[in-house]
Amino acid sequence: MYIVPERAIGDLMTRQAAFDAVEKVFAAMASGDACNFPVVREAIGHEDALYGFKGGFDRAGQVLGLKAGGYWPHNLEKRGLINHQSTVFLFDPDTGRAKAMVGGNLLTALRTAAASSVSIKHLARGDARILGMIGAGHQATFQLRAALEQRRFDKVIGWNYHPEMLPKLAEVAEEAGLPFEAVDLPGMRAADVIISITSAFAPSLMAEHVSPGTHIACMGTDTRGKQEVEAALLARARVFTDEVAQSISIGEAQHAIAQGLIAEADITQIGAVINGTDPGRASDDEITLFDGTGVGLQDLAVAASVVDLAIAQGVAIKVDF
Ligand code: NAD
Repeated sequence: MYIVPERAIGDLMTRQAAFDAVEKVFAAMASGDACNFPVVREAIGHEDALYGFKGGFDRAGQVLGLKAGGYWPHNLEKRGLINHQSTVFLFDPDTGRAKAMVGGNLLTALRTAAASSVSIKHLARGDARILGMIGAGHQATFQLRAALEQRRFDKVIGWNYHPEMLPKLAEVAEEAGLPFEAVDLPGMRAADVIISITSAFAPSLMAEHVSPGTHIACMGTDTRGKQEVEAALLARARVFTDEVAQSISIGEAQHAIAQGLIAEADITQIGAVINGTDPGRASDDEITLFDGTGVGLQDLAVAASVVDLAIAQGVAIKVDF
């Protein structure tokens, strides 16, 4: 089997490779060629950690495996390690033998950014020019860099609950040669595309803060109880997701569903748009909303891609196992 350590991922994986892997696996999910297995997530009663597995099988890409890991809230202060820790394990689908072990931390950020980028590619208006960011934490800079590659944006605007973090977004915008402006939430009405990536448990972005024709990628809500946008916004929008079962249970749509504002049948898998079985955006005035909940198959897809790159570049560590 091969080992691709966390430290090697940064030099191997590109945003384009992550985008291609995620777009392909979303398509396979919608055509029934790939499925995610039920997620396990448990408080282990040690170090206040939350630990779990996300697994699946992509028959089209012949990728079988799981991501194991979770959240250790004291890592940073006690040990100087990041709090989110994960490792991806891949298995040979023909034999069940272990095939690869891959560092999953950077890959998680890249595959999450790739998911919102896939949604922008397929759902945002072609003439989108202003990108709005809500959130300025660890994931946000990855989201911003990837999104800027999807349209000819000429400005980035941002809001964050902790405004002192916004200079991180300004830096990324400036690297791309774009102006950055900090705005209040009503100021988001200027945005053509909005990415929301916070750990909030109450909505920041209200339906009245969004203009007709906007595409919104809600990427932060991945757990029961979390919420980034007003449920009424989902009723105003056409809603897409990576996986409907997760969207209605742990994604942003959980609240609109619970309040009876939308039904499960109103939510479309993004893979159907990629495959051309759903037309996606219907008009320039429609609000589209992607509920990106994060599925195991995304992790497996980018891990398989990075293993191929590591083998090709001679940096995969081969062990007899
Ligand atoms: P982080 O801790 O680095 O940043 C958290 C962000 O949320 C910051 O911008 C912070 O200011 C903001 N925030 C905190 N409290 C808030 C509040 N009450 N209201 C509004 N904003 C608030 O976290 P991160 O690593 O950037 O992750 C952000 C979120 O994305 C988390 O909820 C995480 O679980 C989720 N996530 C989702 C996926 C996915 O696939 N969908 C993948 C990775 C992470």
